[in-house]
Amino acid sequence: SLTIGIVGLPNVGKSTLFNALTKNDVLAANYPFATIEPNVGVVGVPDPRLAVLAGIFGSQRVLPATVDFVDIAGIVRGASVGEGLGNKFLANIRESDAICQVIRAFVDPDVVHVDGKVSPKDDIETINTELILADLQSIEKVLPRLQKESRLKKESAATLAAAEAAQKVLESGKTLFEVGFDSSSVRELHLLTTKPFLYVFNVDEDELTDEAFKDAQRALVAPAEAIFLNAKIESELIGMDDDEALELLQSMGQEEAGMATLGRVGFETLGLQTYLTAGPKEVRAWTIKKGATAPEAAGVIHTDFQKGFIKAEIVSFDDLVECGSIPEARAKGKSRIEGKEYVMQDGDVVEFRFNV
Ligand code: GDP
Repeated sequence: SLTIGIVGLPNVGKSTLFNALTKNDVLAANYPFATIEPNVGVVGVPDPRLAVLAGIFGSQRVLPATVDFVDIAGIVRGASVGEGLGNKFLANIRESDAICQVIRAFVDPDVVHVDGKVSPKDDIETINTELILADLQSIEKVLPRLQKESRLKKESAATLAAAEAAQKVLESGKTLFEVGFDSSSVRELHLLTTKPFLYVFNVDEDELTDEAFKDAQRALVAPAEAIFLNAKIESELIGMDDDEALELLQSMGQEEAGMATLGRVGFETLGLQTYLTAGPKEVRAWTIKKGATAPEAAGVIHTDFQKGFIKAEIVSFDDLVECGSIPEARAKGKSRIEGKEYVMQDGDVVEFRFNV
């Protein structure tokens, strides 16, 4: 499955946030028999449609889609030249499909900032610079080979041109993600800054509702998404029951936990989509890539479902709610039979037919 790597300077609240990620009960529900690596946190993707379906079908369990976050050991200035945990750090990021930077915006004289002052802008620059330098090194390493090969091979000439274009972007101090660089053209170079970025601002409680502050931070990281949460409060929410948690959130002007926002935005950042299955046993959101076909979607449940795929019976969530049940949806002509070429749509409630 796809993963998001969590990075950030020391003392910004990564461990606190990660604790909240690992302690939620989505983990046990979705992976009852799995051993999860200690540096992996799983968070559910909130989807209000699931509870509605559970009501219609009288389902016993509700299983949301999930996103995996990997805690990547601390980055420090100089990581790109092997300082601190440099090389391991870079290898871990390379394996992630997106990068989530945790940025300290909370002020607390008892918590030391590595650079002596709280400045989201400076911290973002410090980390981005390390990633940019690492990419520049990767490019410089392969350029001589690409230059040689490009005289003989067309594909190498194309890669060389793309690598040189990427080098220009990086030398200007920008990440490849922020300029929308076509990552497929440099895939073989495994560059870090082509990955989608996502920023988590760890803020003081009063900043959670400070729209002017949040807009200013968003401007720093655009076009990446920004999430604002208080890691300490997030870790406290985990131990509470739902009503208690909601009350605390509302007292801070929040509609959902930062963890829930992180799940939703993280899922989106990875370019993922869900489809839904529902029955008396369980309601479930299954994760697929955007643009997946019906057999590919079936394969997420079981590889045999993909191999033996015959067709899919699909009712859209809205139609199902309007009709009140699958038989009623069939009677009203709202149930569709789709074949191998069908591209899954958001909100599809599906039953697959397959040969075993
Ligand atoms: P890491 O080094 O990035 O993993 O940071 P930690 O999660 O270990 O946090 C460093 C210190 O900051 C700890 O003492 C935390 O309790 C504290 N901390 C984390 N989040 C917050 C926050 O939102 N507000 C305040 N005031 N302190 C926090």
